[in-house]
Amino acid sequence: RNVLHWFRSKDLRQEDNRGLHAASQKAKKSKSNLITMYLFTPKDMEWHGTSPARSDFILRNLRILKEQLEQKNIPLAIITAEERGNKTEKVMQFVKENDVSHIYADMEYEVDELRRDIDLGKKVLDESDVSLDVLHDQTVVIPGTLTTGSGGPHKVFTPYHKAWLAETKQNAELLDLVPPPEANDTDVAKQFEKLFSSSIPELPESKQYASKEEQDRLRELWPAGNDAGMKRLDHFLNDKIEDYKAHRSEPAKDATSRMSAYHNSGIVSMRAVLAKTKQFNGGKHFDEGDVGVAAWVREIVFREFYRQLTIITPHTTMNLPQNLKFDFVQWEDDVDGWKKWCEGRTGVPFVDAGMRQINTEAYMHNRLRMNVASYLRANMLIDYRLGERYFAEHLVDWDLNNNTQGWEPSYTIFNPVTQAQKCDPHGDYIRKWVPELAGLKGKEIFAPHERLSKEDFEKLGYPYPHVDYAQSAQRAKQRYKQDLANA
Ligand code: FAD
Repeated sequence: RNVLHWFRSKDLRQEDNRGLHAASQKAKKSKSNLITMYLFTPKDMEWHGTSPARSDFILRNLRILKEQLEQKNIPLAIITAEERGNKTEKVMQFVKENDVSHIYADMEYEVDELRRDIDLGKKVLDESDVSLDVLHDQTVVIPGTLTTGSGGPHKVFTPYHKAWLAETKQNAELLDLVPPPEANDTDVAKQFEKLFSSSIPELPESKQYASKEEQDRLRELWPAGNDAGMKRLDHFLNDKIEDYKAHRSEPAKDATSRMSAYHNSGIVSMRAVLAKTKQFNGGKHFDEGDVGVAAWVREIVFREFYRQLTIITPHTTMNLPQNLKFDFVQWEDDVDGWKKWCEGRTGVPFVDAGMRQINTEAYMHNRLRMNVASYLRANMLIDYRLGERYFAEHLVDWDLNNNTQGWEPSYTIFNPVTQAQKCDPHGDYIRKWVPELAGLKGKEIFAPHERLSKEDFEKLGYPYPHVDYAQSAQRAKQRYKQDLANA
C-alpha cells in the first residue's frame, strides 16, 4: 500500500515540509511508496476571489514542484474537484484507487478548511482503515499555544510578541529543519503512470491575466519556486535588512522584503526563513543583534499572531468583524466613490498611488494598505468587506488571516495627507504611481487642489478629492459611535 501527502495552497514545496517529511518517513518505514496529490478546485478560487496573479503563482509553483518530485520518482497528481462540497469524496476516491494506507497533510486554520479536514477524518474512520495525520507547518510557534498567566491564548500583540521571543529562545529546536522526501524506488513509473501523466491545469478563464504584457510583467516580479524565494531572502538580508527599521514605512525606498507571497503559499518554510535570519544575526536571538532583524522578525510574529487570532475568533474567516458590533454599521452605498477608489482616482494622491500600485504589481506596500483601507472604510464609509474582497482579487500575496486582520474596522482613521508627508516626504512614491502629478514641486504634491490655483489644478487632469477629509472623518466617528451603541 502507498503513503500519500496531500499538498494544499499553503505548503507548495518539498524543502522543510512537515507533512511531506512525515509521509516520506512513513513510506520508508513501511517499505511502501510515497505519492502526492493537489486538489484543484476552481470554485474555491471563485469563492475567495483569488486574483489571476495568485492563481498563476500557485500553478507555476506546482509545476516546479512536480518536476522536482518526479526526479525522485515521486508522482504529484492533480485532481480536480468540480464542486466546493465534493472535495473529501474526491480525496477518498483517490485514496481507494491508489491503495493508500496513510494520508498526511499540513494544517490550514480557516473554518472551511478545518471542516473539510474533520469531514475527511470522519470518512476515513467510518469507511476505511486509512489513517490521517494533519501537521502544523505554517508557523514556527503553533497557533493557540502561547497563553497568558490565566491559561487562555494571548489576544493582544505585545505580550504575544514577548512570549513568542521567549518561546523561540528557550526552544531553539523550533527552528530545526526536516529534510526533503527520499526518492521512491526507480520502478514505480509504470505503477503510477496515470499519476505521473496528470498535467498542471491551465488558468481558469475567469483567472486569466488582462493581457500578455501583464502576465509577463507579473511573472517577472514574482518568480516561482523555493530557490527564487530563498534568493529573494538572501538579497534582503544582505542588502536591505540593516535599514529595515529606519525605512520600512517609506514606500519609495522599497525597503521591505517582498517575501509575503512566498510565505503565504508556503514556497519557503517559515523555519527556514527564520533559521537563515538567525544565522545572519550571528546566531544571536532575534531581539539581540541587528535592530533591522528585530524589527523584521516582529512583522513575522504578526503573521504568527494572526493565525492564533483566527483560531480564537474563527468568525473572522466568515466575513464577520472580530468586534461583532462593527457588523451593525450602516455603510454608504457610494458607487461612484467605490469606482474611484478601485481605479486610484479618489483625488487623494497617497491613496491613489497605493491603488495604482496594487493594480499594476499585484502587491501594495504595507503603509499604503493601511491608508487605502482607512480611506475606504472611514472617509468613504464603504463596507470594508468590499475592500477586503478587492485585495483578494488583486494581491499575489493574499492571505485570509493577514487580510482580514488588516481590514478589521476600528476607530483609527489615518490622515492620508500627513501620512504622505511623513512616509513619502519627497513625494517620490506618489510621483512614480500618479504621473499626472509628477511635475509638482514641494508640498504641492500631497494635496494639489489646496495648493494650486483652480486653473493650474484643472490642467493636471487629476480629480478633486471625492470627500472632504475632516468632514468625512467626523461623519465616520459619529456613525460608528451611534451604530455600535445601538448594536
Ligand atoms: P515585510 O515588511 O518584509 O515583512 C516580512 C513579513 O512579515 C511579510 O512578508 C509578511 O509575511 C509578514 N508581515 C508583514 N507585515 C505584516 C502584517 N501587518 N500582518 C501580518 N503579517 C505581516 N499580508 C499578507 O501577507 N497578505 C494579505 O492579504 C495582506 N493584506 C493586508 C491588508 C491590509 C489592509 C493591511 C493593513 C495589511 C495586509 N497585509 C497582508 C500585511 C502586510 O501589508 C504585508 O504582509 C506586507 O506588506 C508584505 O510585504 P513584505 O513581504 O515586503 O513585508
